[in-house]
Amino acid sequence: MTTVGFIGLGIMGLPMAVNLSTAGFDVVGYNRSKGRADQLAERGGRAAGTVAEAVRGADVVVTMLPDSPDVQAVLLGEDGVFAHGRNGALVIDASTIRPDVSAALARAGAEHEFRVLDAPVSGGEQGAVDGTLSIMVGGAAEDFEAARPVLDAVGKTIVHVGPAGSGQTVKAANQLIVAGTIELVAEAIVFLEAHGVDTDAALRVLAGGLAGNAILDRKAASMLARNFAPGFRLELHHKDLGIVQAAAREAGVVIPLGAVVSQLVAALVARGDGGLDHSGLLKLVEELSGRGRRP
Ligand code: NAD
Repeated sequence: MTTVGFIGLGIMGLPMAVNLSTAGFDVVGYNRSKGRADQLAERGGRAAGTVAEAVRGADVVVTMLPDSPDVQAVLLGEDGVFAHGRNGALVIDASTIRPDVSAALARAGAEHEFRVLDAPVSGGEQGAVDGTLSIMVGGAAEDFEAARPVLDAVGKTIVHVGPAGSGQTVKAANQLIVAGTIELVAEAIVFLEAHGVDTDAALRVLAGGLAGNAILDRKAASMLARNFAPGFRLELHHKDLGIVQAAAREAGVVIPLGAVVSQLVAALVARGDGGLDHSGLLKLVEELSGRGRRP
């Protein structure tokens, strides 16, 4: 049996760890706030009290943490993975972080004889629960092959996209498309409602044509109900759009629509709505149209 040390049992990490356990892996989980590891233990895994304890006997380490500094601390720290993990272990970082940080962590890992992959995911909380995530993987081809059984237990579309850091670059493009699409769906909903159209009927027919997309399929109903419970928090999408903007600038590429939606997300975070789901962009569209009400 392969032992997997799993660090970061949040909205995404806990269901991913549970799916690994269900698939037959021996999963040892650690989260900064303890209750989450206990939830894993109740559902087939084991709870660890520190990162070191989670990774000491692990063949594979998976991290699912919020941001670049969190992953750097957990991998590079004195109490971290490279200090306490087994030499030769596979380290799969599923968090969404900066591509340059992923590439540097892969180099640092190699110095300690760890095989590091960046493997950010898309598909949201439901995809994590269902084990149907899309996973974009950067790193060495042979390490990708070695990681396949672990990735297969949590994902459905799993693609090796290039060397270390490339998974994060692809994820940045994913986040650009998702934010822009949510904004356009939000604008369409407010527009349709303002015209008194039957929005359920309208969205059904839109979903079948060229305007069809995964946001319409999966998020329009909760947007119509004004249910903005996360899901994916606006503050995390704000982080991701910062990554996109920096990476676009580095490549000399302009992303005008990306810049606009970045500012709209930034406005929601600045006024204290960062804990809402990213579909909360709808609130801002309503208010800019003079139709919404601040709570
Ligand atoms: P989350 O905040 O729910 O989970 C992160 C977890 O990490 C929390 O439980 C937190 O306590 C824990 N944590 C933070 N620092 C830690 C540390 N040093 N040691 C141990 N645990 C620590 O976030 P999430 O929504 O699960 O997202 C995780 C990552 O996945 C982010 O990079 C996010 O951008 C990405 N992502 C999220 C979604 C989504 O729909 N929620 C989808 C795709 C990708």
